[in-house]
Amino acid sequence: MRIGVPRALLYHNYRPALEWLAKENVAELVFSTATNKNKLDKGLALCDDEVCLPVKVLMGHIQSLLGEVDALFLPRVIRLEKKRYICPKFLGLPDLVRAGLGTEVPLITPVINAGWNRFRQFGEGLRGLGLGPGPSLRVLRAWGQAARAQEQERRRLADALDVPRRGKRVAVLGHAYNIFDEHLNFGILRQLSALGVEPVTTENFRREQIEEGARCLAKDLFWSYGRELVGAALYCLNSRAVDGVILVASFGCGPDSLINELISRRFSASPLPLMSIILDEHSSGIGLATRVEAFVDMLNWREMA
Ligand code: SF4
Repeated sequence: MRIGVPRALLYHNYRPALEWLAKENVAELVFSTATNKNKLDKGLALCDDEVCLPVKVLMGHIQSLLGEVDALFLPRVIRLEKKRYICPKFLGLPDLVRAGLGTEVPLITPVINAGWNRFRQFGEGLRGLGLGPGPSLRVLRAWGQAARAQEQERRRLADALDVPRRGKRVAVLGHAYNIFDEHLNFGILRQLSALGVEPVTTENFRREQIEEGARCLAKDLFWSYGRELVGAALYCLNSRAVDGVILVASFGCGPDSLINELISRRFSASPLPLMSIILDEHSSGIGLATRVEAFVDMLNWREMA
């Protein structure tokens, strides 16, 4: 069975594990190609205006896979860790897709809820890959190895802040689907590198660094990804591990409007520069490049002053 995996939303967080499963032929996974104008336009046409940009992008990816695959992998994600939640849009994604594309779209929608026991989680994961309820030894082993591939990548990336800086270093903080989708953000990481600045993302922070930052909040946040962003930003503020921070959020994102406000207020009393970028379907590559260049110029002038 050919299972379509849209290269959108949480694909960007779980890419190492998903690609490992595809490489080892554990399941016949077919990934959509990178976001482009055509996918974005199709996604826009399928969603109401108030839906956030990453969900519109998802719709475009899903439509590009229709007809190419037997079913689409679209989990209902409730919790990725105990006692914390992720944005409710992830819980309703299958319904949003059916509302936009019709009820006959073949979806595989395992429920991911870290509050459940591991056996139930595993059964749901298998169901998600179209492998049925009977776990074979091969599948069990593959599952463990995919999780290891994911963890290895996490550890590899988390070393970046420990390496001494050779030039300016800027933290580009936002959801993985905003940071690693080059069509949406006009290649902001590449733009910074081309200007001689080393970009780091939330993935480059160790778990304890994020915890250290998140502890600065008077009240713990119950959104997993939002807490990660705040934790990374406040760690930067206190440790001076970077020369500046760029927050990247999407238009129409409820959680990020609060998270970014929380971060901005903390930065307003600090000399560490902060720039906030909101991506939407009307964003211009030239406009964004100008802002990034101005930000980097300002960092360089501060050093000379
Ligand atoms: S966190 Fe924001 S951008 Fe992400 S799915 Fe929810 S509303 Fe959309």
